[in-house]
Formats: sequence, structure tokens, C-alpha cells
Amino acid sequence: MRKITAMVIAFGCLALVTTSCKEKKSTGSQEESKSEMQQKVEEYAYFDLTADLSKLSESERKLLPIFFEIGQIMDDLFWEQTFGDETLLDTITDPWVKEFALINYGPWDRLDAEKPFVSGYGPRPATANYYPQDITRAEYDAFADPLKSSHYTILTRDENGNLKTVGYYEAYKEKLDRVCELLDQAIEITDNPSMKKYLVERKKSLQTNDYYPSDMAWMDLRNSNLDFVFGPIENYDDAFNSVKTSWEAFVLVKDVDASTKLAKFVQMLPQLQKELPCDPAHKNYVPGTSSDMNLYDVVFYGGDCNAGGKTIAINLPNDDRVQAKKGSRRFQLRNAMQAKFDKIMKPIGEMIIEPSEQSNLSFDAFFWNVTFHEVAHGLGVKQTINGKGSVDEAMQTENSSWEEAKADIIGLNLVCNLIEKGEISDITVEEAITTYIVGLLRSVRFGASEAHGIANMMCYNYMFENGAFTRNGNGTYHINYEKARKAMEGWIALILKTQATGDFAFASQYSKDHGTIGPDLQKDLNRINKAGIPRDIRFRQGLDVLGVK
Ligand SMILES: [Zn+2]
Repeated sequence: MRKITAMVIAFGCLALVTTSCKEKKSTGSQEESKSEMQQKVEEYAYFDLTADLSKLSESERKLLPIFFEIGQIMDDLFWEQTFGDETLLDTITDPWVKEFALINYGPWDRLDAEKPFVSGYGPRPATANYYPQDITRAEYDAFADPLKSSHYTILTRDENGNLKTVGYYEAYKEKLDRVCELLDQAIEITDNPSMKKYLVERKKSLQTNDYYPSDMAWMDLRNSNLDFVFGPIENYDDAFNSVKTSWEAFVLVKDVDASTKLAKFVQMLPQLQKELPCDPAHKNYVPGTSSDMNLYDVVFYGGDCNAGGKTIAINLPNDDRVQAKKGSRRFQLRNAMQAKFDKIMKPIGEMIIEPSEQSNLSFDAFFWNVTFHEVAHGLGVKQTINGKGSVDEAMQTENSSWEEAKADIIGLNLVCNLIEKGEISDITVEEAITTYIVGLLRSVRFGASEAHGIANMMCYNYMFENGAFTRNGNGTYHINYEKARKAMEGWIALILKTQATGDFAFASQYSKDHGTIGPDLQKDLNRINKAGIPRDIRFRQGLDVLGVK
């Protein structure tokens, strides 16, 4: 309804203006006629989640509808956790506001510091529904129940108003019982023993609130073209303690051939670690080669991973006991990456990079950069070399942003090295670097206030200050590939030195000085935003989109 009204107004204005300024005015009036909410919704470009299903076995095909239904329940459960008031959507009359609430799973803008956008709502409560909204830090600290810090309990109040813990199964019993019924069907259908084992264990986890055994079983999943990541997984949504896990689901179709090619790089990790351009003392960690790396197309996103900005790579499980025993599994989500490249990266690059270098912008380069960002998290240094304990602890509040900067720049360096060694042959070093710089511009639009944003800005500024790129008079970037190559080496050495020595004082001063958006970059970002280039993606998904009945 709103959309039609807006169009009528736009055409109405057109008729009134004089010929000479018609074009200018008409553009202006169309923009003005879009509500702020419509613009915000359209900052998420639509993308259809499809995949090549030809390799799926007959039983795998039969699992798809069951996994989709469970995924939808995970989605419903996430609403309950993060917002809860199901009547919200019915009370919203503006369809754009409603659409935006669906994208954000509630009335707070996830890509804009959780600002409320539905009238009547204040700031987002840090507790969401993981804790009572009136809980205080002192009350939480004084609460003696050891289960209070479990990933799989919520805190509520008993009849006397005292805090109590409730396990996830008990808290969400009705919906989880339905999931268990569906899992029974899937267990019956699958003819893959490792999938059967995983689903059996996952069902038990849902009922016992103990996810360790099913995470272990998931690590052993073999010879399956289909994967199903679901349950309470990440803790980002718990702004009170970063402990409570959020329900989510990914249904994934594996590209077996491409995954085999990726696997060979995991075997090369110890060698790649040795070749990092830094003081040998600052790369003392010995990376494992047991972890696998796989390429998937996602066909369903539900719950936490579908809220706001979308995940394009997964590294799970989070349980470090499982990681210590079995490593972790890395998933590169190719179709979601392709969506972000086509809808966001490419238009940004075409606007920002000087025309003669635009041919160096490529999806394959984006793919390799993201893939090796994940790999790079597993390289470098984990323990400080001067008795300050783990890097994580020593770096305190600087830890996340420096770790992200490390992964980013080492990832790029690995890609360049592997191209030079002939191991990656579908792109050039110039493509890797150009696409990387455009990628920094894409990410920094999410703001420079949190870890990834600060990391991006430190990388951007280091590259700029060391001549990796310069600005032409018209605002486009000219890249100096030789200087870029040197800059990445200098930046890696500096990051690893800071981490290895746990130098928090230096890290915090450096990120203050170099982790912010300067005036020139702000102008670039304004141009990008003004051009209406999407900030993220949202999905059309379902069995019908996938072409399955
Ligand atoms: Zn990362």
C-alpha cells in the first residue's frame, strides 16, 4: 500500500516541475518520497538461496523438508529469546517498518548500534529474554546457582521474585519436543551412519541441555552432501554477559570437489606459519592439520545467523573441549559470499577504484580472501612470550580487534603467497589486493566502533599510510601493488609483535590513533551510502525457491 502511494506522489511532482530541471527534480522527489524505513529495508538486497542438488542421494533429498521445518522452529525460538513479544508485528501498520522488524528480529536496528525504530520502544535491554529485564549486576553476582553461567539456561524469577535458572529444554519444551519428533523421522530416513549418529546425539542434547556429545558427533560427520548446523550456538546476542547461546539453523549443501581442493591447504598450514613475515619468536604456535575446510551453498538460514548482517563463513563448534580433541570445521558459504560480492562489493569497487584497475575486482579473490581470513585465525601466536599468559588475556579489551586485524592481513598475505607459489591459480596478486581494499570499505560501513570495525580501520589506515593506495583528484583510488605487498608484511610483523608481547598499552594507544574513520574516507563512505548501494543481504528461501516439492 505504502509503496503505491509513494509512486503516485513521485509522479505527481514530476508533472508540476518545468522541463529544464525535470530530471534533477524527479530524482530528488523520488528519493524524498521513499520513507527512511523503506530505504533501510532496501539496504538489504534480496538473494535467492539455491544450490545444485544433483549430487544429493535419495535419502538426503528426503531430509531436506525435515531440516527446513526444524530450521523454522529454530527461527521461532530465536524470536522468543531475543525479543519475545509476538504481538509486535501485528501492531505495526507501516509495511516497511514491519519488514525492517522482520529483518532485525525485533524493533532495534542491528546494523546501527541497536537503535530502536518502532515507536514506543526505548534502547534494547542488554538482557534480551536471557535474563529478567530488571536484573542488576550485583544481584547476578550474588546469585549462587552455578548454572547461572551455563550456555543453555535462562534466568527468570520464581514466585517470590528470586532468581532461578531454567534449562533451555524446559524453557522451550513445546517447540523442542516437536523438533525431536522431526529428528526421529530424519534418523529413520538417513542411510549415512555418521549423520544418524549426529542426529541421535543432537536430539539427546536438546533434551539434556548438554551439547558436548552431539558436537563431538558432528565433528565425525562424513561422506554427506548435506549438512545441518542447528541448536543454541553463538553468544553474541547476550549483551549482558556474552554467555547465553542463541537458536539458529543452517541447512547446507556441500560442493565435494571444491572442498577436496580446499583440504590441501589445511595440510600446508605449518609451512605457511613458518613463512609469516615476522620475528620467529612471534610465531611460535604450531597449527594443527586435523581441521577441515569445506565449501557449501546455504539453502536455509534461520534464527540468530539470519538476523541483521549475514554470516558468510562458519567455524564451529565453539566448545573448546571439542576443539582440543577434534579441531573444528570451517565452512565457506559460497552462495552467500557471491551475493555480498554481486550486490555490494562490485558496485562499491566500480565507484571507488580507478577505471584502469577495476578489472582486478573479482569474486574469486573475495572468496579466497574470506577463506584465508578464517585460516589465519589459526596461525600466529597464542601465548605471550614474556610470561603474560595467553594473548587473549594479555590483550584485554584490545584482543578482538587485533585478532581480527591479524586474520585479515595474514589472510591476504597467505593468498598472495599461494598465488606466487602457483597453488592458487584462478586469480592474480593484483586481484587479491584490489578486492581486499574494496572489502575494507564494505565492512567499515558497519561502523568503526566494534572489534571488526576497528580492525578494518587499522588495516585500511596502515595500508594507506604505507602507500598501498593513493587518492586521485576525483576521489577514486589508485593502488600501488608493490607498496601494498610491503605494507602487508610490515603490518603483520607489528601485529604479531604486539600480540606476542601482550602489549596492551601500545595496542590501545595504536587503535585510538589508527582505528578511526578519517575525513577523506568518510567522504568516500558518504558517496557509497548516497548511491544506495546495499549494506547487507536478505534471503528468499524455502523448498519452493530451491525447486523441491
Ligand atoms: Zn575473523
